[in-house]
Amino acid sequence: MDCTPSALLEQQFPNETSIFAEEGTAAHDLAEHKLKKALKMRSKKPTSKFHSDEMDEMTDLYVEYCLGIIENAKEECQDLQILIEQKLDFSDYVPEGFGTGDLVVVGNGTLHVIDLKYGRGVVVSAEKNPQMMLYALGALSLFEMLYDIEKVSMTIIQPRVDNFSTYEVTVDELLNWAEQELKPKALLASNGDGEFCAGDHCRFCRARNQCRARAVKNLELLKYEFQDPALLLDEEVAEIIGLADELSKWASDIYTYATALAINEGKQWAGFKLVEGRTRRKYADEDVVAEKAKEAGYTDIFKQSLISITEMEKLMGKKKFKDILGDYVEKPKGKLALVPETDKREAIEPIEAEFQVEN
Ligand code: SF4
Repeated sequence: MDCTPSALLEQQFPNETSIFAEEGTAAHDLAEHKLKKALKMRSKKPTSKFHSDEMDEMTDLYVEYCLGIIENAKEECQDLQILIEQKLDFSDYVPEGFGTGDLVVVGNGTLHVIDLKYGRGVVVSAEKNPQMMLYALGALSLFEMLYDIEKVSMTIIQPRVDNFSTYEVTVDELLNWAEQELKPKALLASNGDGEFCAGDHCRFCRARNQCRARAVKNLELLKYEFQDPALLLDEEVAEIIGLADELSKWASDIYTYATALAINEGKQWAGFKLVEGRTRRKYADEDVVAEKAKEAGYTDIFKQSLISITEMEKLMGKKKFKDILGDYVEKPKGKLALVPETDKREAIEPIEAEFQVEN
């Protein structure tokens, strides 16, 4: 809705999954099972490595809230239609558009669409939420012939951030939005037309690392007009802090993208190289170190525990430290980092980098 050409642009990039997405899927499966059980429907308990006490508690909260909505709806209508994990087709408005409603309840003049969000990074409001409105359109297409629906209630349940957000509209308002706003944008999107428009939504876009419009917008933010006086005014500092968040997100996306390509595909970026990140030395085995130091006549080597490497080196002197303990001190491999060529560290060959990542 915010950047119509992104829909086609995104198709060049593989669909990404993440540990958070997998965790969310596990939470949805568990929530679905619990809700079905609570409604006396057949269901087999799913298994997942992501199951935890927290997930158990959060899905219980979700089920409790859903049962509350169902109970309230029952007070006005005994003949409720309750659908769990229902495919909702809104292709009448968006070409090939569909989604899955976690819970859909209909029967009392109101259509309820409920969505579980397991993430906790961003609090998602149901207010004018296009995803929820699309799902509501899909649900409406399913039931409008069977029920007399006047109102649509959309609820997002995001239990990990204690967010229970509901937005209600009349069916007329929803259909009006679909005709006036959604359809024209969907048409533009399906043709790859319209203006690129960068913003907060870019974080969900698969093109975000290479998108020129996003780069232009962020670089625009940097064109700050510094004038007299010589020192920044408080309001200018505040303004820059406001820009810093978006700039750092963008820079971090670009850095992660470039580093991943350098490590995984041996991509060379002009002026940059791969190096090992900095790490600290550590004793390979403290008991052996203590024994070796004692054998060499050093007794003052314990405080609460064995003294640190720096202290030990100071105590023995660099040369003796190397002779006595050199074999018993190790330096873990550092995380790979892309740095300017002027950095003093030795460059790592891409093939070596790949091996290091795999191990
Ligand atoms: S990154 Fe942002 S501006 Fe670029 S295509 Fe995606 S949504 Fe649009």
